[in-house]
Amino acid sequence: MNELFTQALPVLKEIERHGFEAYFVGGCVRDFYLNRNINDIDIAVSATPEEIKKIFNRTIDIGIEHGTVLVLHERGQFEMTTFRTEGTYSDSRRPDEVQFVRSLEEDLKRRDFTMNAMALSSTYALTDLFGGREDINKNEIRTVGAPRDRFEEDALRMLRAIRFVSQLNFSIEKKTYEAIQALAPRLSFVAVERITAEFEKLIGGPAADRALSYAVETGLADFMPPLINQKVVTAVSRMNYHTLTADERLVLLLLVGQNQDIKEILKQWRMSNKTIKKCVLLAELVAIRHERSFEKADIYYSGFDQIRSAEKITAVLLDNHYDERWLEDLYHAMQIKSKQDLAFKGTHLIKWTGKKGGPWVKECTAEIEKNILNGVLKNQLSDIKDWVETEWLRK
Ligand code: ATP
Ligand code: MG
Repeated sequence: MNELFTQALPVLKEIERHGFEAYFVGGCVRDFYLNRNINDIDIAVSATPEEIKKIFNRTIDIGIEHGTVLVLHERGQFEMTTFRTEGTYSDSRRPDEVQFVRSLEEDLKRRDFTMNAMALSSTYALTDLFGGREDINKNEIRTVGAPRDRFEEDALRMLRAIRFVSQLNFSIEKKTYEAIQALAPRLSFVAVERITAEFEKLIGGPAADRALSYAVETGLADFMPPLINQKVVTAVSRMNYHTLTADERLVLLLLVGQNQDIKEILKQWRMSNKTIKKCVLLAELVAIRHERSFEKADIYYSGFDQIRSAEKITAVLLDNHYDERWLEDLYHAMQIKSKQDLAFKGTHLIKWTGKKGGPWVKECTAEIEKNILNGVLKNQLSDIKDWVETEWLRK
């Protein structure tokens, strides 16, 4: 059995000892039958959060109103959620209320896809009420219950279906697919943040091109912030993009789509400032790389990881061979890798020259950095002092 399951077993047993039910549910059960790496386990319990908190000494409320508690146990931290239904949905956006229920079946019924609606007990007995295993064997994504009803309840599920296509390389069952096609416009009711969270998982998946094609074909892409369309997807599908990370793929999509204002688009997606900054820089670096090879100074100012990403994206765009060794050799040959490695500070420059601080400190520093990177000056205080006193002051 998987190590994560084994670790959590005493926790399930402890809950059962108190007369409640507890099961592994959702993605971990699916991934177990797919022989995929399981990254986190979800536990569903018949006990309410209050009841769970009485059983375990150390718990953290992480979503009490949704029934979720984190249990801090000597074997690890385990998230558990009370069996629940999601009441009615009046706006394809979020349930009007969640209701705690005492039956596993009710809880499984509210889940999105058959493969995500299975439960495994503490004796590893499988509860599979909707044919999840069969669908997994067929590599098919199918909703629990009538797809139209399920997508009307929560339109994000349509995008989730496609996200799973990307991650699992599954296809979408016919009726489920047709319902997505019919209801795609409802994605516009969904908060952008929820869309983006699924989309970020989507582009990182091994079958991202297949999923992106689905997004365009079903019409879902039309109801997301701008980025993907038929032209972009066709072009990217022909590229050897698989070695790229999710962020690198995002930049690839932006560049293939010839987007002028990357920052503005990523803001519409409500991406994090960190992601926006990174993508803007990568796009700039790729533009530079189209003009010339990277040099030591590029690595120094932008960082090795960014330069490597830009090199990888460029290789994909131009269908070139990507040679990491060359970049690594360049990096290892650098006397200074970043500003932190410099042997001097601005205050040294002021002391040596006897001048007041000003923009010249920055200029002088840049000149020294250039000389060190080019190998004409050693990164040693005495050498740098000599250079400032002779070369710089004589300018
Ligand atoms: P991953 O491994 O990528 O986290 P996951 O299946 O665990 O995949 P989550 O988004 O973490 O996906 O959701 C956990 C479980 O909660 C799902 O397996 C599914 O049973 C249920 N679920 C999540 N979102 C929805 C939704 N919008 N509608 C219905 N059920 C959902
Ligand atoms: Mg999960």
